[in-house]
Amino acid sequence: MSRFVDFKAVKAAVSMLQMLEHYGLAASFKRSGNSLSGPCPLHGGENRTQFRVSLEKNCWNCFGTCNGGGNVLEFVARKEGCSLREAALALCDWFQLPTQEKPARPAKDAGEPPNAERSPKEQRSPDAERPPKAAKAKAPKADEDGPNKPLGFALQQLDSAHPYLAERGLSAEAIAEFGIGYCQKGSMTGRIVVPIHNAERQLVAYAGRWPGTPPDEDTPKYKLPPGFRKAQEVFNLHRAMRESQSEPLYVVEGFFGCIWLWQHGIRRVVALMGSSLSPQQEKLIVAAVNPQGRIILMLDEDDAGKAARDEIVARLSKLCFVKTFVFHETGMQPEDLSADELEQIHGGVS
Ligand SMILES: [Zn+2]
Repeated sequence: MSRFVDFKAVKAAVSMLQMLEHYGLAASFKRSGNSLSGPCPLHGGENRTQFRVSLEKNCWNCFGTCNGGGNVLEFVARKEGCSLREAALALCDWFQLPTQEKPARPAKDAGEPPNAERSPKEQRSPDAERPPKAAKAKAPKADEDGPNKPLGFALQQLDSAHPYLAERGLSAEAIAEFGIGYCQKGSMTGRIVVPIHNAERQLVAYAGRWPGTPPDEDTPKYKLPPGFRKAQEVFNLHRAMRESQSEPLYVVEGFFGCIWLWQHGIRRVVALMGSSLSPQQEKLIVAAVNPQGRIILMLDEDDAGKAARDEIVARLSKLCFVKTFVFHETGMQPEDLSADELEQIHGGVS
């Protein structure tokens, strides 16, 4: 499927400032009049005046190593190491700008606009100062209706040999299958990213896990992209659906618990990405289990998990057979189960 993206519209809708805010970079820039200056986030320079942004022209310039500049698209493309088109699609996703499935204009207008190669000086962004529609995207509602759009780009150059992955005991096979790795570019820099797919196998988001204990309270352990609605997805459902319906479906809370079970031979496993079951997740799970099928609910043995358990069982058991797995100790979660224990559990139910 190809999405049509209007470069001009994206450039007009997203200001350099919003884009820097998206990356959490705005604070490192100093504003004077209509321009910002700060260290270059692209080549990672320290010189605090090397990177300049013209808010009026909605463009940037690096007078250091990069020795060049461009518009928002070019910035994102450089930062993410992707094409201009992928950058435009990423911006549409981050700021919830509309894209279309089919070109609204002749195909030759679809890719790069005629002025894409021009230098920032020659570019005009008459709309740069208008209040961007994207402003509202800052506080997306988690339960907002509607599916997540496929991402349209994939992160490149993830480090799958990062020590954190080995620390969690993940196998090379699991790391490769789930496509996880340490990200060194873009908004997920410094995090282990986990690709999230929808039931149609399309990549819809990356979750970023801080590798270890976050350095301060402002750094969340998990980061999801703005606008992503996790209530709409069940993690790993697209893989779990490939497995035989005669196997029970294991439902856990987190990404790593899910990967842990998968790695130990329990391939029909999904994660709710939290301890609550949204109506859409309920629908997706029930659709993946036939009426004679079984669900093993394996929530974390903590307050949230215990509180959610009964309600989820009550909802799912109207539609199929649900068994709750209770850990023998408070605080335990799926990853605390050894290979032997998992074999016993799985052997006992299938
Ligand atoms: Zn630079």
